[in-house]
Amino acid sequence: MSSSNNEQTLTLPTGKTVKINTCLFINNEFVDGIDGKRFETINPATGKVITTVAEALSNDVDKAVDAAYEAYNKVWKNVSGTERNKLMNKLCDLMERDLEEMAALESLDNGKAFSIAKFADVPATIKTFRYFAGFADKITGKIVETDHDKFDYVLREPFGVCGAIIPWNFPLLMIGMKLGPALACGNTIVLKSSEFTPLTALKFASLVKEAGFPKGVVNVLSGFGPTAGSAIAHHMKISKVAFTGSTNVGKSILKASADSNLKKVSLELGGKSPNIIFADANLEEAVKWAHMGIFFNHGQICVAGSRVYVQDSIYDEFLNKFKSYAESIKVGDPFKEDTYQGPQISKIQYDRIMSYIESGKNEGAKLLIGGERHGEEGYFIKPTIFTDVNENMTIMQEEIFGPVVAISKFSTAEEVIEKAHLTKYGLAAAVFTQDITRALKISNELQAGTVWVNCYNIYEPAVAFGGYRESGIGREGGKYAINEYTQLKSVQINLGRSL
Ligand code: ADP
Repeated sequence: MSSSNNEQTLTLPTGKTVKINTCLFINNEFVDGIDGKRFETINPATGKVITTVAEALSNDVDKAVDAAYEAYNKVWKNVSGTERNKLMNKLCDLMERDLEEMAALESLDNGKAFSIAKFADVPATIKTFRYFAGFADKITGKIVETDHDKFDYVLREPFGVCGAIIPWNFPLLMIGMKLGPALACGNTIVLKSSEFTPLTALKFASLVKEAGFPKGVVNVLSGFGPTAGSAIAHHMKISKVAFTGSTNVGKSILKASADSNLKKVSLELGGKSPNIIFADANLEEAVKWAHMGIFFNHGQICVAGSRVYVQDSIYDEFLNKFKSYAESIKVGDPFKEDTYQGPQISKIQYDRIMSYIESGKNEGAKLLIGGERHGEEGYFIKPTIFTDVNENMTIMQEEIFGPVVAISKFSTAEEVIEKAHLTKYGLAAAVFTQDITRALKISNELQAGTVWVNCYNIYEPAVAFGGYRESGIGREGGKYAINEYTQLKSVQINLGRSL
């Protein structure tokens, strides 16, 4: 690693080098934090420090919010939708140009397989931005016909400054899902990346500048939750905050809104999603999708299909095939071409997942495979399958956020629907069956924000995404996200009515 003006050149495991500025990005400039603090970011595949980045504290949040506030009022609110669309698409062109580099940084900082970052994470981020760029010049209000002596219309307007607080599991995609609609709608942004994965947000920031966004429209801060995150959630000049993360922190964001200025809040939180496999399903396909449903991104995905329910007549066959498939999937170095599963994000998460595995064993579940560390260094955990579980066990109730699945049997649709609903969450669910009537009926019954039929974990920016129950408030994706980043103003004009 070498550095000048905090622009550092990192050498990647591929042998290539990447330039990255590790300061805070405020007003289109990379600057040190006011108090000059920095923190380390770790490569989870080795446990070694990659580099340090500047740390934002609440005074830096104030500075970034002031920049975003001024940018909104002096410049951005007068920039047309056509121009916003152009800037967003330019940003996408630059992400495409630097796709390989962004994927490598994402993989280095997060531990996800480089090939997956390259073919899934970065392209999905670009797709999301392009999708929302298309909205920028199509956000319209409505004329409302009332009495003849009045002319009424409703405008759809941006909030002004929006805060975004994102997690570490999909650092770039989370930027796309929040900044895509926020910018299309004409808001300015203060984004805080996760303290575990600050690097790609900084790379993204440099492309924002290169794309030609006016200064202050996008501000990117690296920092911690209780300091920088909390300062965003409490800030009096931020009118909306979008958060993705754990349910407990999500609740604290809502409280912060109540304690400050009642900023609008959207929350995308935890899950414990049921994946239901009926006997008439295409078994080979169901095995592969169910595997992807839980082990994709090393189980670090809020929609993970962590509870798999298999109809009793195919249970043994499914289990055998699922076990063989899980055993055949490569765990290891994220930069090896055939790796599917890399390390967990951090020592903290590694320990947390291991303690859930212990609780599964202690509470009487049967450990079929896995349950232990993979390799000598880094935070790798072998794909883990529990059977003989019941709904009261901790591993059936709490979000593990790791490569741990619990598989159990059911006989009837009524029984499995009841079991599916025995957690506090309602983020996602899936059903595998060849019977279209059953697929529709079960989809209608399930209390979840997303239901996949004969597939799992497919990402689509055009559809609503969010949670029922304690899995969240509001929706990302599609035109639903446009509602989350705009507010309505009714204008009533008197055409001759006198008092
Ligand atoms: P995870 O367990 O996935 O790391 P968290 O909910 O802890 O999820 O973190 C998600 C994001 O929320 C991160 O950017 C983190 O820094 C931030 N965060 C954590 N605690 C707070 C808090 N009290 N206020 C605001 N943001 C927070």
